[in-house]
Amino acid sequence: MSASYSRFETLAVHAGEPRPTHGGSIVFPIFQGTVYETPPEGGVDYLRYSNTPTQTYVHDKLAALEGAEAALATASGMAAISTALHSVASAGDHVIVAGTLYGGTHVFLTEHAPHLGWNVDFVDAADPAAWEAALRPETKAIYTESISNPLVRVPDLAGIAAFAARHGLSSIIDNTFPTPVNFRPHQIGFDLVCHSATKTLNGHSDIVAGVITGSADRIAKAHACLKLYGGSLDPHAGFLLARGLKTLALRVRQQNANALAIARFLEGHRAIAEVAYPGLESHPDHARAAELFDGFGPVLCFRPAAGLDAAEKLLKALELPYVAPSLGGVETLITRPAITSHAGMSPEARSAEGIEDDLVRLAVGIEATEDLVDDFKNALDSI
Ligand SMILES: *Cc1c(COP(=O)(O)O)cnc(C)c1O
Repeated sequence: MSASYSRFETLAVHAGEPRPTHGGSIVFPIFQGTVYETPPEGGVDYLRYSNTPTQTYVHDKLAALEGAEAALATASGMAAISTALHSVASAGDHVIVAGTLYGGTHVFLTEHAPHLGWNVDFVDAADPAAWEAALRPETKAIYTESISNPLVRVPDLAGIAAFAARHGLSSIIDNTFPTPVNFRPHQIGFDLVCHSATKTLNGHSDIVAGVITGSADRIAKAHACLKLYGGSLDPHAGFLLARGLKTLALRVRQQNANALAIARFLEGHRAIAEVAYPGLESHPDHARAAELFDGFGPVLCFRPAAGLDAAEKLLKALELPYVAPSLGGVETLITRPAITSHAGMSPEARSAEGIEDDLVRLAVGIEATEDLVDDFKNALDSI
């Protein structure tokens, strides 16, 4: 495809698609085979090596969308995150983590990293002096998420990338919440970008998958780790992921619009005490988010004025959202993090992070904005 047709929506549809097509098929076929005939020059194409046709096709599309030289698809978001970290850290190395993390990543870095001989320090993402203070001669990497869960804080991402560059560290970011439609971390200097493609990239709540993007050199290192740890992407999931990616821009724009409309509606409602969404002027990181992002993503949080009882009644009264964790699908999901995503933390630790029992997290889908707002209006009137 010529370089002039490089707008995101066009790339989502056409990047990675071979011309001429395979057998005339507009849709890239699923190459489900595990092993391929040996070419005259030798070499092995094998599913676990992530170098078979459907896997390579998915890599090309993902690299184009994240604006990276290369991409590597993985069996899950956790496979992407653990592989990215394994590709930059060895026994004895030190990793700085800025801010709060997805639960699985938090457990990996607190409970599993010591078995690998990695030393990990968690620092305040908003306090550059704390990053400097954490530096050691053996520091190799700094890790962050674009938007924290569930309180949707936005760290000083440009500052973190610059800090890493200044000190020769690898910078790694989990960009699951914004997706490249809203934010492209390589553009501000992040070395490795990870996603749970289970969420918005696939967007239909029907596969588990992940991706890492970066320079060809860095992805080659990650690829070598993935081959050994075995977390390669199944071709059928790869086919579904590529299908989801073609509509990514449309879905994310609708989710941005839905989340902002509901956040504004809730903020103006007397039964709601607090709303957190980076698209609201009242959010502490709104200015930074507005500068870095093209949209604010599908997730927002709020607390009913009447507390836990009202939160529980509201979840029952809403007709459209399913009561479930996760995010990024076409259907709207609603959950109380205290009993789902953050149930593993002690009540004291949750409270210290601002995750109270009556905190409700909403991950919007692509339903009509007016219907979602009406559903909230009716549900709040009825409780
Ligand atoms: C879901 C999620 C993950 C883990 O992804 P899996 O596909 O479940 O392995 C990592 N980071 C974030 C921000 C997530 O939301």
